[in-house]
Amino acid sequence: MSIPSEQIGRVYLVGAGPGDPELLTLRAARLLAQAMIVVHDGLVDPAILAMAHPKARLISVAKRRAHHTMPQEDICALLVREALAGNDVVRLKGGDPLVFGRGGEEAEACRAAGVPVEIVPGISAANAAGAAAQIALTHRDHASVVSFVAGQCKGLSDQDWSGLAGVGRTLVIYMGVKTAARIAEKLIADGLAPDMAVAVIENAARPEMRVLRGVLAALPDLVENERVKSPALIVIGEVTRERDDALAAIALRAKQ
Ligand code: SAH
Repeated sequence: MSIPSEQIGRVYLVGAGPGDPELLTLRAARLLAQAMIVVHDGLVDPAILAMAHPKARLISVAKRRAHHTMPQEDICALLVREALAGNDVVRLKGGDPLVFGRGGEEAEACRAAGVPVEIVPGISAANAAGAAAQIALTHRDHASVVSFVAGQCKGLSDQDWSGLAGVGRTLVIYMGVKTAARIAEKLIADGLAPDMAVAVIENAARPEMRVLRGVLAALPDLVENERVKSPALIVIGEVTRERDDALAAIALRAKQ
């Protein structure tokens, strides 16, 4: 029995940005205030969830590295089931839904089930970290290429990163805290200078943000000694080199 299309709900895959509610889009804030069902993952800040409709059902499908509370197929099935039951669903994801967010898979599942899906972009961690730490991901004098890579264990050793980092290029690594030592080793083996500048930005755009700087060869020690925790980004390239004026600007903002 097919459901009349006017009775099918809509799924909105919404980017929640890096955590600061002021970095949501107006569209994300409006959809969040209206939807009766909000399905969110672990990176979404409680202050953002507080913007949901007071009567909305908030469903957490939080994923932590070791224990997945809900497998991806079940998340897709949940979105489709609710929409087919006539509910509009906001699927809130940290950052941007289509940058290491599995938004593509969820959109496919909706389309395959005949459920209308709309994607609302969010500020991805790379953009948030660049702005908050005053690191220009591209710069006319230092970098005309920027790449985003996933640094988690799966497949790290078979990936070819040659060409992604080096002079004139910025490499932004998501999910790389646990594998920082292997990443540094791999890039140096690929020919990157051990003294290439790196920055680690933990909790970008949140009050507890830390920006740590160093050189590639010392990245594993930096991550270990400073006890860097997820969520954090590793940025590799000339653009991260410490600049006193930018550091002063961050300190000034923190005081305000
Ligand atoms: N879709 C998200 C990325 C999800 S993958 C986005 O577009 O930002 C999760 C990884 O994103 C984390 O392991 C971390 O590397 C990065 N990340 C997310 N939020 C972050 C934040 N506030 N500060 C630093 N890194 C962050």
